[in-house]
Amino acid sequence: MKQVSFEDLKKQSIRYIKGVGQSRLTLFSRLEINNIFELLTYYPKEYEDRSRIKNIADLQDGELCSFEGTIVSNVTVLRPRRGMSIAKVSVQDSTGKITAVWFNQHYIKSSLALGASYIFYGKAERKLNKLQISNPVFEKIDTNQYDSNELKRSLKILPVYASTKNLSQNLIRAIVQEALKSLSNVELEDMLPQPVRDRHNLADIMFSLNHIHFPVSEQDKDKARYRLVFEELFMLQLGLLSYKSLAASARQGIKYMRLKEMDEFIGALPFQLTDAQKRVLGEVEQDMESNTIMNRLIQGDVGSGKTIIAVLALFKAVRCGYQGALMVPTEILAEQHYKSVKPLLERFGVAVELLSGSQSKKQKQAVFEGLKNGCINVVIGTHALIEDTVEFYKLGLVITDEQHRFGVRQRSILAEKGGNTDVLVMTATPIPRTLALILYGDLDISIIDELPPGRKPVRTYSVNESMRDRINNFIRETVKAGRQVYIVCPLVEDSEEIEAKSAVVTAEDIGNNVFNDLKVGIIHGKMKPSEKESVMKSFAASDISILVSTTIIEVGVNVPNATLMVIENAERFGLAQLHQLRGRVGRGEAQSYCVLFNQSNSKVARERMKIMAQSNDGFVISEKDLEIRGPGEFFGIRQHGLPELKIANLYKDLEILKLAQETAKDMVAEDPGLMNNKRLKQYLANHFGEKATLS
Ligand code: ADP
Ligand code: MG
Repeated sequence: MKQVSFEDLKKQSIRYIKGVGQSRLTLFSRLEINNIFELLTYYPKEYEDRSRIKNIADLQDGELCSFEGTIVSNVTVLRPRRGMSIAKVSVQDSTGKITAVWFNQHYIKSSLALGASYIFYGKAERKLNKLQISNPVFEKIDTNQYDSNELKRSLKILPVYASTKNLSQNLIRAIVQEALKSLSNVELEDMLPQPVRDRHNLADIMFSLNHIHFPVSEQDKDKARYRLVFEELFMLQLGLLSYKSLAASARQGIKYMRLKEMDEFIGALPFQLTDAQKRVLGEVEQDMESNTIMNRLIQGDVGSGKTIIAVLALFKAVRCGYQGALMVPTEILAEQHYKSVKPLLERFGVAVELLSGSQSKKQKQAVFEGLKNGCINVVIGTHALIEDTVEFYKLGLVITDEQHRFGVRQRSILAEKGGNTDVLVMTATPIPRTLALILYGDLDISIIDELPPGRKPVRTYSVNESMRDRINNFIRETVKAGRQVYIVCPLVEDSEEIEAKSAVVTAEDIGNNVFNDLKVGIIHGKMKPSEKESVMKSFAASDISILVSTTIIEVGVNVPNATLMVIENAERFGLAQLHQLRGRVGRGEAQSYCVLFNQSNSKVARERMKIMAQSNDGFVISEKDLEIRGPGEFFGIRQHGLPELKIANLYKDLEILKLAQETAKDMVAEDPGLMNNKRLKQYLANHFGEKATLS
């Protein structure tokens, strides 16, 4: 048989599948499905299980179910208005009765016979204790065949995919089925080596793909899923190990001195360090003073005071004769850190400069020179720092703030500019500890688990559209009281495909209509850096009262006079992200508020909003978020610069993750350069970048 690899499938456009023309090609590309590989790994988000037959009496409100019943009434057809028909019939089994209803389906009357039995499938509704099912699909039971396998086979477990407008479930199913069929007479290369599959009793790749999309039984589906999850996590672990071995290959670290001046520096701060800050600082100092390279992650909730730890570490590095770099993900944040950090350090004679993409060539040139000749001790900047043109005189410490916004690679590129540089990464994205140990296997972890004293938790409310006027009044009152307001939208501009509020339209609307007497500003990622900067300046100076924005303000922005945040379409955000956003208020003395407009009716959305309203603890929130969200809506993965997970759920699949981690470790121990597993090696290079080659 002809051998085909996943790389081959990536090169095959789905346009060659029967039934896919230009317009469907466009629709599929909206789901990020362009080639056969992407199609086959577009895993179902759930299944319709038509194979388990329930008693009518046991059907729950809102449940997707199958039941078997006899038609006990004639089909009645109502025509409430032109072009509309409603067909109704009573169905009964030994336990109860249900009304089946179809809208505008003319064939119903002729296809159901009084006294005959059928199997129905659809969503049951219980209203005022009456059971009803709308537009169920059904199939006649041939009494001669009843209980035979024939019937069971006709009742299937069907995949349900996340979809987009104009792309029906049936169409996606058909296209996936075609693609699977096209693989039936070739041999698809299995990325998991045979010994690994044998050892863990894992299904092969073709079985898994077939049964994840079209399972014949629950067990087969589970078996398929187990294997695919294992594979995904195994690859992730191999990738992470390859980074780790990069880090481990590094030589001895710098041995910084114990610094007397440190106490003096701390004493000059306008506040006392919290106990948690003192503890974490101690851990950082210990790392810096040891002769191994520091690789430490500081996790601390929004507002826990991570920045000052960075400043103290930078101070130590500079006093010991080295340069330090602080890298942040946005220009706004770089500016802000620069302004707050520079005066602290300059009092002690440390030269601090800013490097950002929006500076003039001349300004940048001056910074480049200062870094190269050592006149600049500390540089604060954006991604601009990792460009080749940036060279250091003696770089000893690299800190990345809001690490979840960077890729793993970016961190290591900056660190490599120094040689045996110490590395500190800071993140406000709280990840449950077990997960952190696995994702950040190469880092030591410190946690600032205490907020500075006197912080008032942000009061959070989840509301719907009916509260719009009241919330607008609240915004007005807040501004009248001299405070400022953020309004956060999920989109920059209105979009045809996504029904959600955009910053541009919202700003226009409220600026011209609702709050035309107030100063409304806007900021989003598509604006020029200089525009963004001037808007942030105006907001910080209170020249803007209401700032309409996208999630661009998610990280680090610090305007303590802003005490109200309104988030539109809050259901569209991850909880960890909402928590980050909310961290922009509650930064001063005054009580702050966060209003979440939930435009969805779904139960999950309501539950998620409730968690936000009930908790201000990032760890609790992330733990719950992981629990509620399904696979695909991964957490913490892409945020940490790793490839996205398509099927594994890091919360539910923690056991498989551990197993995959062990297996990956064993493999690397046995075959360090993956010389006997060239395919895996190639895969890692493709997915983690060329740096990630185990060697
Ligand atoms: P984050 O951890 O979110 O980066 P920051 O470092 O920006 O938090 O700190 C938030 C605010 O708290 C800053 O205004 C900072 O000056 C202040 N702060 C930090 N540590 C303390 C402390 N121990 N006592 C009082 N205020 C503090
Ligand atoms: Mg911060």
